[in-house]
Amino acid sequence: MKTLPLGVEPVVVPRVIFNESKSLIGLSHSEVAEKLKEIGIPEKQCRMRAQQIWHWIYFRGAKSFEEMSNISKEMRTKLIENFEVGRPEIIEALISNDGTRKWLMKFADGQEVETVFIPEADRGTLCVSSQVGCTLTCKFCHTGTQRLVRNLTPAEIIMQLLVARDYLGEWPSPSEGRLVSTIVLMGMGEPLYNFENVKKAMHIIMDDNGINLSRRRITLSTSGVVPEIYRCGEEIGINLAISLHAVDDETRSKIMPINNKYPIDELLKACKNYAGLKNSRKITFEYILLKDVNDSDQDAHKLVKLIKDYQIPAKVNLIPFNPWPGSSYQRPSKTRIDKFSSIIFNQGISAPIRTTRGEDILAACGQLKSESQKKRKQKSQEK
Ligand code: SAH
Ligand code: SF4
Repeated sequence: MKTLPLGVEPVVVPRVIFNESKSLIGLSHSEVAEKLKEIGIPEKQCRMRAQQIWHWIYFRGAKSFEEMSNISKEMRTKLIENFEVGRPEIIEALISNDGTRKWLMKFADGQEVETVFIPEADRGTLCVSSQVGCTLTCKFCHTGTQRLVRNLTPAEIIMQLLVARDYLGEWPSPSEGRLVSTIVLMGMGEPLYNFENVKKAMHIIMDDNGINLSRRRITLSTSGVVPEIYRCGEEIGINLAISLHAVDDETRSKIMPINNKYPIDELLKACKNYAGLKNSRKITFEYILLKDVNDSDQDAHKLVKLIKDYQIPAKVNLIPFNPWPGSSYQRPSKTRIDKFSSIIFNQGISAPIRTTRGEDILAACGQLKSESQKKRKQKSQEK
């Protein structure tokens, strides 16, 4: 038997079959109906046909019109001539020793994006990207050193979930026991700087005629774009995670320049408002631990005080820093990290330490995309 290099899964034959201008993926029900009308399908049928197509794409995972057996052959031919429902080119499909998976996909304009799947005992989390690169320049983040190339379209955001479920064999959509049970917008990019596209993609993913993922199972992580936090609560209603990372404005502005625009007080007021909206749940505060920067006992106490002063129902997610080539920070010692966590925990707030997953396939926070590009460049130089 031929063995593949460790952690590498056979890659599907690269074929560019996702052409945004022809794709019906990423469109709302009424937009699909409108497209059908444009190709001459009788108007009174368009809504019903749009529903059928939608169900095939998002419930059954159809990748071609040929599969849509309850649509007449004649109409299918017309659809094939005009539209597509295929997938983008998959450049890499990797599996880590710990079961974490990563896909690198390439879109029609050559831009690439990474998606990570993290299986755990009680859930499977898909970490989705919202932009290629990021305009913000948080000092600890590798993505922040990349030049923003562009926002992802709704189709490209949704495509990450469709591709993951293709590979995991998760079609049709199961009602229970899903492999991809949770989505976190924690990949590359700042989702609130791509608000409209993220909103549209999330509404399609939540639609009960298709993927039907509950908004309680989706979390958006933001560095703190205050005005859009309010909009996110009102217009999307998914869970919110805040990359807080420091407890005073001086430190936060140093490591996260966005803090100069939206300082901690404004940010926490927006969080309090978010948590108070109907049906909202606890806010997650992400806190990266950087040695000698934000990891002291005083910092931990101040974090608890802030959460209590602003009366925010919250949990804290501690992320030990993941180093990358050229980064100027270090991960604190295990004892320091544990102490930080226990100070928060002892005051009644949950503060788990996020274990690093998928490091061997460069899938951990802050390791996305640029590394894969570099790796392939190296490979081609070796040839
Ligand atoms: N732009 C959004 C979404 C990205 S989420 C945001 O900043 O929230 C990615 C998470 O990983 C963020 O909490 C981010 O601060 C964190 N992160 C970035 N670089 C990291 C690194 N090198 N090590 C650990 N966590 C990192
Ligand atoms: Fe952008 Fe988030 Fe990285 Fe900051 S942490 S540079 S906002 S992706």
